[in-house]
Amino acid sequence: MQGVIRVTFAVVCGLTFALPSIAADRTIHYNVNLYVDPDARAIEIENRITVNGTDRLILRFADWLDVDRVIVDGTTVELDRQSGGGVISLPGRDRQIVFLTLSGDIPETIPAGSDGAALFGSSGWFPITQAEDLSYELQVTVPRPYRAVSSGRLSEETETASSTSATFISDMALEPPSVFIGPYAQAERVSSNVRLRTYFHKDIQDFSDQYLEKSEAYLNRFSSEIGPYPYQDFHVVSSPLPVGYGFVNLAYVGRMIVPLPFMQGRSLAHEILHNWWGNGVFVDYREGNWAEGLTTYMADYALEADKGPEAARQMRLDWLRDFAALPPERDMPVKAFRSKRHDASQIVGYNKAAFVFHMLKGEIGDEKFTESLKQFWAEHKFSYADWSDLRHAFETVTGRDLGWFFEQWLESKVAPEIQLSMADVHRGSNGYVSEFTIRQIGSVYSLNIPIVIETRGRLVSEHVRLSEREQTFRIQSETKPLRLNVDPSFDVFRRLLPGESPAILRDVTLAPAVDVLLLSEQSPFVDASQRLLARLLGDDTVTTPISTHGQIEKATVVLGPSEVIEEFATANGLEGLPQNDTGNTAAAWVTRLEDDLPVMLISARDGDALSALVRSLPHYGRQSYVTYAGNKAIERGIWPVESSPLEFVFPD
Ligand SMILES: [Zn+2]
Repeated sequence: MQGVIRVTFAVVCGLTFALPSIAADRTIHYNVNLYVDPDARAIEIENRITVNGTDRLILRFADWLDVDRVIVDGTTVELDRQSGGGVISLPGRDRQIVFLTLSGDIPETIPAGSDGAALFGSSGWFPITQAEDLSYELQVTVPRPYRAVSSGRLSEETETASSTSATFISDMALEPPSVFIGPYAQAERVSSNVRLRTYFHKDIQDFSDQYLEKSEAYLNRFSSEIGPYPYQDFHVVSSPLPVGYGFVNLAYVGRMIVPLPFMQGRSLAHEILHNWWGNGVFVDYREGNWAEGLTTYMADYALEADKGPEAARQMRLDWLRDFAALPPERDMPVKAFRSKRHDASQIVGYNKAAFVFHMLKGEIGDEKFTESLKQFWAEHKFSYADWSDLRHAFETVTGRDLGWFFEQWLESKVAPEIQLSMADVHRGSNGYVSEFTIRQIGSVYSLNIPIVIETRGRLVSEHVRLSEREQTFRIQSETKPLRLNVDPSFDVFRRLLPGESPAILRDVTLAPAVDVLLLSEQSPFVDASQRLLARLLGDDTVTTPISTHGQIEKATVVLGPSEVIEEFATANGLEGLPQNDTGNTAAAWVTRLEDDLPVMLISARDGDALSALVRSLPHYGRQSYVTYAGNKAIERGIWPVESSPLEFVFPD
């Protein structure tokens, strides 16, 4: 469940930032009166558009809208209707006022009904001209008992016996506003001059207090870390759709999702933080999207880190495991990331980018890190910025050249791979000296690597700077060293060594080409297999031939009835599932062949038992095994790491 929602959220919040406009100085102002009746699926839009000195107004709006009237400076004119909008000829004066009235029946593609309506800006309900920033004053009127909400400053609300109206103002919007309507119960609290509101369906209105409280806490947290919240309002709005979307000063969340803890935690924090990174400082996409990485670092990761160092370490390790499962041909430089399209782009654009900020903080220290972000915010609020602007802020505050850092982490794909090639200990004049050599495979990076030496009675923690192919280091300790660990808490973004990264299901699902062996011809089993495979492997897998026999030559999924899979595993020397609980109805696990090829085995009692995996198995990609009783995952886990290749145990 969690995976589904996070993905939806991420996809949309990645896409809602507009591209830099071609003519940023040409802001067009709109006064819009919108009337929507969700039950009748009827819409009426009155636009007053102020245009300066052009003789043609090209408007884009939905084909299902009828043009009722066009008046330019008091005179009725014709609109030349074309597919996707129309063109109005203008006299070409300064400050020309165009009145445009549209109406229509809301088509089936737009959700509208007694649970509410969602008019996304992208649906074309709001007529826009080409490539410009826009400012608007939008009044939305809906019949009772509905209420409407949109992005922008809530400036006025009025009610009559039959309707409610609310007005929203935006001085600079990157995209046309989205409007959400529902039979909402409203709750409100004001915190540091910011009006926080929930617009929740009545069955979930009990969650309002929690959301207002959490929203206030996140707003305060990010305001003190970065700078004051840049908008006057923040709304959490429930949706009849199973979605989680972030907009300027607004989060639109499925009513089924509102009660879930992760939504009130990381997801809410993430969407709130986008009001600074993405919707406060806009992303100049020409150099890639820095906002997802920074938001993931300061929201998702920071909330984990609040729980303690072990939770933070676990999140970094998860990111490195995901990266280790990413085949080289799907890897890309951080700077090439623009928006999330699939898991592979999330692994780089969200997680690796967030990890880069973690390492940067380690490089320059907590204080300078925070100060740099404050400076970046102050300098670029409400303007476009790219990775170079971020780098500039960090360099200004630290007085250091950080070009090498940003270059090595953003410009190229792959990751450093380090090996502990030798370690020894001898007595020094002042206790003991541990001497060890670290080697880099592949490209040579400059790395700040934590070393932990366990001695009798205490831990010695130090950092070493590895900037050559191979370097030998010495660390002193008063007492005799017992063991030495290189980067034991995974503070360096690097390719995990095979011994550090047990096989996980994602090793197979992320592989660029996957073979499928289906060891059953019974139609319920075949049918369930096909549905499961579509969810596991997606559409962008290069080949997924279904066969019933064959050699394992690439990453492979093998599906079959439990006893057949057991035979297959034995015959091919593959590991079976260790916890062979007879109560299981199905199981999935991954194992690696000697040449490192990952194989996922999926066994099920019958077609029904296999069907039960379709929804949830794709969310267990970070596990090595999952066992099921019906549709409930009863056991899951990662194969144990026997010994880390980056650990050295000194002989007695
Ligand atoms: Zn995001």
